[in-house]
Amino acid sequence: MTENNKPTALIMIFGATGDLAKRKLFPSIYRLFQKEKINKFAVVGVARRSLTNEEFQSSVKDSILTFGHAEEKVDEFISHFQYHSHDVSSSESYLQLKGIAEELDGQYQLEGNRIFYLAMAPEFFGTIAEQIKAQGLTESKGYKRLVIEKPFGHSFETAQKLNEQIRTAFAEDEIYRIDHYLGKEMVQNIEVIRFSNALFEPLWNNRYISNIQVTSSETLGVEERGRYYETSGALRDMVQNHLLQMVALLAMEPPIALTTEEIRSEKVRALRSLRPMKVDEVDKYFIRGQYGEGTVDEKTLPGYRNEHNVNPDSNTETYVAGKLLIDNFRWAGVPFYIRTGKRMDVKSTNIVVQFKDIPMNLYYKTEETLNPNLLVINIQPDEGITLYLNVKKSGTTSNTKPMKLTVSNKGIEHINSPEAYEKLLFDSMRGDATNFTHWDEVALSWKFVDTISNAWEHTKEESFPNYAAGSTGPLASDELLADDGHIWWQIKKDTTESN
Ligand code: NAD
Repeated sequence: MTENNKPTALIMIFGATGDLAKRKLFPSIYRLFQKEKINKFAVVGVARRSLTNEEFQSSVKDSILTFGHAEEKVDEFISHFQYHSHDVSSSESYLQLKGIAEELDGQYQLEGNRIFYLAMAPEFFGTIAEQIKAQGLTESKGYKRLVIEKPFGHSFETAQKLNEQIRTAFAEDEIYRIDHYLGKEMVQNIEVIRFSNALFEPLWNNRYISNIQVTSSETLGVEERGRYYETSGALRDMVQNHLLQMVALLAMEPPIALTTEEIRSEKVRALRSLRPMKVDEVDKYFIRGQYGEGTVDEKTLPGYRNEHNVNPDSNTETYVAGKLLIDNFRWAGVPFYIRTGKRMDVKSTNIVVQFKDIPMNLYYKTEETLNPNLLVINIQPDEGITLYLNVKKSGTTSNTKPMKLTVSNKGIEHINSPEAYEKLLFDSMRGDATNFTHWDEVALSWKFVDTISNAWEHTKEESFPNYAAGSTGPLASDELLADDGHIWWQIKKDTTESN
């Protein structure tokens, strides 16, 4: 940190001509600069293509104008960017990069602080980390941090191998594994809702909660990512990281302090409490789906098997629903249901906490039954919280009606609420690893997910495709909950109104 408490950094982005850099990273760095959260910084874009510094700076300018709504100080901002055309396996190329780093370090007084941001195909992660170390790029007097994108491995075994490779060059506390869900405003709000409200904290257990549902649905299909997705599927792409991270935050015990170590160790304990399954039990707890052709707004959308770079007989799941049980005192008997899918009817990430019914329904004399109380945390695209209560219908009757109390970030903070990548980049510069995943969390998540992928990869799912593009998902997902007497709560659209 400099004396004015702003972090300094030389950020080397490997994969700087890619989609992530263009849509997320450059606009995020720009916002930090524009908000004056950083001033001493430089960025080296590293990628395969041969580009001049001017050409690269002009692509950064396009990115921040298009995705960052940049208006001011654009030319000053892009002057902090340089480009290095790189060959990942050539030692010589790393030595050249080291030269550029030293020069920029002096020019911008960066105190030897370096961030290596790996935003390219994961097969290169291990090699790059090893070469960074071997060619002396980590030998500077400041901090050295590795920020690494998903996917972190393909299974526990491959993740462990990758971890060993990067650990040759970086210590665990220098590794920032990105799970961008952890940068989202409302995911960060889970802890605050739980631990700062007397209304919820005493109820947050199996005496008062019936079940918890975590949903992340997309309307998009697999788009141009067919080749990657065929080897990943929804389980590895979404469940292993984002969904299990949200479950850990919902289920963990209160940490003794809000420090990185304390929060992480509680998350690890929650993940350790997940009830393990045997391969032949997977079907009892998890179901999979794959979208077929469907119609949305009178437009026919192709099925997954007809997408670009997808095997016409593919066994890859584009939808997963599962029931997790957490075997500890707090959660024994409370199912955590999770689901995620592509080409769904709505785009929504949300959490629904369903409270148990009250012991007796005094109002059960009309056609209406009481609705359970729900706490809904909307994560995206809407951000906010809704509480579903029962109130009296106006008039002389004692009938009840449901009422929603909604707080929405839309219109209040939404416009200014920083993007996940902006927060996470800033955290990596400040050295705050709380919202990144520790190796212990990654390892436990993979071990849990590996059992499911082992079961699925060895049996062909004959029912595929089993849901239409633009629908609510496969029937088996509803049946999974129906077996326990529950239903998925469909949270479609929120409004700022509170009735
Ligand atoms: P991309 O394919 O658009 O970009 C890849 C980049 O890597 C390019 O800059 C390319 O020049 C560089 N590259 C490829 N091979 C190279 C080589 N041999 N030597 C040097 N450079 C090489 O990929 P992307 O979508 O930007 O994703 C990058 C990483 O981020 C991946 O790990 C991906 O899973 C992850 N990720 C992306 C997104 C997203 O929104 N795009 C979201 C989450 C995670």
